[in-house]
Amino acid sequence: MDKLTSASKLIKEAKNIVILTGAGMSTESGLKDFRSSDGLSSRSYKGYYPEEILSKRFFYNHTDLFYQYLKEKLNVIGISPNKGHLILASWEEKKNITIITQNIDSLHQKAGSKNVLEIHGTLATCRCTQCKEEKKLKDVLNEGYNCSCGGVFKPDVVLYDEEVSKISEAFNIASKADLLLVLGTSLKVYPAASIPEVYGITKKGAVIINRDETPYAYDFNVIEINGGIGSTLEKLDQLLKD
Ligand SMILES: [Zn+2]
Repeated sequence: MDKLTSASKLIKEAKNIVILTGAGMSTESGLKDFRSSDGLSSRSYKGYYPEEILSKRFFYNHTDLFYQYLKEKLNVIGISPNKGHLILASWEEKKNITIITQNIDSLHQKAGSKNVLEIHGTLATCRCTQCKEEKKLKDVLNEGYNCSCGGVFKPDVVLYDEEVSKISEAFNIASKADLLLVLGTSLKVYPAASIPEVYGITKKGAVIINRDETPYAYDFNVIEINGGIGSTLEKLDQLLKD
């Protein structure tokens, strides 16, 4: 049996699927992969590196520059879900699926997925650091980041010097799954990289689709396909319908 047929069989039989998605899921929507060699993190912006700009410390000290950077470099407004996102959303209508994503673009929700845990938060919304009022990033970029209460609006993303607050929830969900599907992440960045271990990948097996090889590429129980996500999911979707 070829890899795609085996993968579709696993997906068909699974009762409780957890899908872990990373940057590779969004690059097909035109977003740059932050960590790839040609990605954003290798380039400095006005003398600062992105890891520095995207920190809580920098946010409070240079709020103007922080938002300027978001507007110019990370603006996810106007980006649309790709066929991969849409296929996952359609699977959720038929199967018990939870998406755990490292992405901050909310493209899964835009595609119609409802069960989504954003472990790095989202750029879609901002929250006032004092009164906790919520506002869309789009409105904050247009109207300014000052809140009428005297506080400032801060994006709902997990910054570099902040803790990944939802990781224990992610571990809990992953441990209960009977199939893990990994899409567009090389599984090298912690804490998300711990999710396969917590799930029990060596015993329960997994399906991984990623452009580059992951550390699990040669694991006995793992089916790893190194290729495009949208195109591979399209083939899997077809096999599931057959
Ligand atoms: Zn406020």
